[in-house]
Amino acid sequence: MAQTTAKPRILIIYTGGTIGMVETADGLQPFDFSHLMDNVPKVGNLGYDIESVQFPNPIDSSNMNPTYWGQIVKDIADRYDEFDGFVVLHGTDTMAYTASALAFMLRNLRKPVVITGSQLPIGDTREDGTENLISALQVAAAKDENGDPMIQEVVISFQDYITRGCRSTKFTSTGFHAFKSFNYPVLGTIDLHIDYAQPYLMRHDEQLPLQPFYNMDPNIQVLWLYPGITEEVVKAQLSIPGTKAVVLRTFGAGNAPTEKWFLDALSEAVSRGLIIYNVTQCLNGGDEQKRYYTGDMLAKAGVVSGYDITVEAAVTKLMYLLGSGLSTDEVKQYLGTSIVGEMTVD
Ligand code: ASP
Repeated sequence: MAQTTAKPRILIIYTGGTIGMVETADGLQPFDFSHLMDNVPKVGNLGYDIESVQFPNPIDSSNMNPTYWGQIVKDIADRYDEFDGFVVLHGTDTMAYTASALAFMLRNLRKPVVITGSQLPIGDTREDGTENLISALQVAAAKDENGDPMIQEVVISFQDYITRGCRSTKFTSTGFHAFKSFNYPVLGTIDLHIDYAQPYLMRHDEQLPLQPFYNMDPNIQVLWLYPGITEEVVKAQLSIPGTKAVVLRTFGAGNAPTEKWFLDALSEAVSRGLIIYNVTQCLNGGDEQKRYYTGDMLAKAGVVSGYDITVEAAVTKLMYLLGSGLSTDEVKQYLGTSIVGEMTVD
């Protein structure tokens, strides 16, 4: 790793969540990040130049939405040139959605945006927040052998692993190792040392300026299939006014019922201009629409394959594409390609 004498400059953005909380007489409360060193003195040992900003009213991440994503994007874009890396502190519940959203909203990113949080508050006696914060700061400061940022994308750094943001999923509400990337190798392991899986890291060919995006279109929905789902439910969901796209949570390798009423409902919705994106309910593996007759029927009905994309990435990718002023055909074309490394297209 190249040695530099300048102190790494890192901006911490505290959005809320368990990590930034301390026990007070009134219960758990977010602490003031301008006093970060008082609450987490070990951070001082890193010798970094750290600044922080925080949401005026830190949120539980269950309240996360596209407006807050825009705030995070603005905090990063406004001060992009001033810092070597960015650490976003966030509740774990919707962290994978935010990681995916930021990946789409921070186009041409060449600096680390490292998202972390914790399962127990930093203020607790037994906790995972201090370690997660310190590791995230180190990941945000790491350089490769050329002196360039080791991470040049949005990642989640949590417990022992660094995973691509738009490939990550929260899979346990109690375990300290809360996030997994089921369909893409981990980008790094955090143990005695922090080791990076360099062949899997994002590298861009072209030097383009950061392009922040603020126009996420929330007019999408998720239709989760289950055996016995009724015609009324499917038709009602496919005709909710204002809906432009639907993530269809299918079975196994992207399969769905082949009953006539179901396929007709999908074809009719597609012919009205609704975009339907096939995303399997399985965490591992993906949609292979052509493998089974049941999946092939979806392709014939005009449903677009999401391959091995996560539902978090599918939802945010649709919001991003729909907000980009593209035609329906263009959106469908981009849905079939990997924009920021969110899926494996065969
Ligand atoms: N409910 C909390 C949140 O997502 C849990 C956490 O901080 O991990 O904000």
